[in-house]
Amino acid sequence: AKRDPGTSYRFYDRQLHISAGYQLRLEADLRNALRGSELEVYYQPRIDLATEAVRGVECLLRWNHPQRGLVGPDEFIPVAERSGLIVPIGYWVIEQACKRLRDAHELGFPGLVFAVNLSFRQFHDRKMTETIFRIIFNANVDTSLLELELTESAMMHDPEYAQRCLRELNQLGISFALDDFGTGFSSLSNLQHLPISLVKIDKSFVQDLGHSPDAEHIIRAIISLAHSLQMSVVAEGVETEAQLEFLRQQHCDEVQGYYYARPMPWDELVQFLNSRDRS
Ligand code: C2E
Ligand code: CA
Ligand code: CA
Ligand code: CA
Repeated sequence: AKRDPGTSYRFYDRQLHISAGYQLRLEADLRNALRGSELEVYYQPRIDLATEAVRGVECLLRWNHPQRGLVGPDEFIPVAERSGLIVPIGYWVIEQACKRLRDAHELGFPGLVFAVNLSFRQFHDRKMTETIFRIIFNANVDTSLLELELTESAMMHDPEYAQRCLRELNQLGISFALDDFGTGFSSLSNLQHLPISLVKIDKSFVQDLGHSPDAEHIIRAIISLAHSLQMSVVAEGVETEAQLEFLRQQHCDEVQGYYYARPMPWDELVQFLNSRDRS
């Protein structure tokens, strides 16, 4: 943060704000947000590179704060994790995803995959698989269209319990994606005994394309290793034609990013799907 005075100021400012008082206030607000209807799920399309079809959407949480406006998850997910609120919030997001999965089916988009982020902290809930099972059972959805995204670190706290959760949920038909891949410490081969069918390349690598030769090497290596382990690859943060071209050449399976679409409210997503369907 030393390079740019603007950046270091923002960083300092941010640290100041995260005082104990601010944290408690945010936590209380967040608790109300969950009870009220201030939380909203946005949907970002994931595009199949071979067919250009929308394969699925990632569910991304937003908070319509009465005073502060639209607050992004980077601002409140850490607070939700520290306070444990991410557990009920996480279930709420899965419920929303199931509801929209049914809506999508009725609107004529039956094969759309819904991906939901799972925090490491949700694994602290010993009733996680049971609760998720109840949610999907009540929603009566095709579980093969539900995908949970988790980072390597989510499984580090209690790897045995996490593995058991993944296996149980996988037996119900839910699939798993490894999020932000490349930023952690484990290697894909360490994870090959887990029911993970997809790897998401972190957007930092995609955005370094053209600026750092390392990014190219890393992306190539991830794609070839993932494919050799029968996993699909999604690149996130794709903003330019050049990034898209590189990923296409490397046989990346899917892309997600502003180049195609930003995360958007449900109604806009429906318009987006309809407009692509007709074209
Ligand atoms: P993530 O899972 O890595 O999600 C991808 C993030 O990249 C999203 O940020 C998305 O808006 C952003 N993104 C997508 N395409 C582009 C692009 O082309 N350029 C750029 N610059 N960014 C792009 P968002 O929505 O702010 O979410 C941030 C993080 O918050 C997510 O990162 C995820 O870790 C977390 N998050 C969001 N929703 C949930 C949730 O329901 N539960 C949990 N546990 N975490 C969530
Ligand atoms: Ca994600
Ligand atoms: Ca990610
Ligand atoms: Ca991320």
